[in-house]
Amino acid sequence: MEELGGRFFVCRNCGKPVVVTDSKDKRFVFCSKECERIYWKRSEGTRKKKREKAREVYVELEKNVTEAVNKASERLEAIRTE
Ligand SMILES: [Zn+2]
Repeated sequence: MEELGGRFFVCRNCGKPVVVTDSKDKRFVFCSKECERIYWKRSEGTRKKKREKAREVYVELEKNVTEAVNKASERLEAIRTE
């Protein structure tokens, strides 16, 4: 049976329901190029934020390790010079 009512989907960016009746219309995720652009731009921003957060954790860890090593060195030095 041939489909007569076209396709229906909800835009992944703005949530707008979209009915596609033209078989040449290849949209199936976003209602417009603009929505597609906004969506990918936002998702890129999220990835960037995640990378930044991971880096913050790493920097914090490195700082703590450095401090711990320095403290341990000081204590060892104190034991040696007792
Ligand atoms: Zn949209």
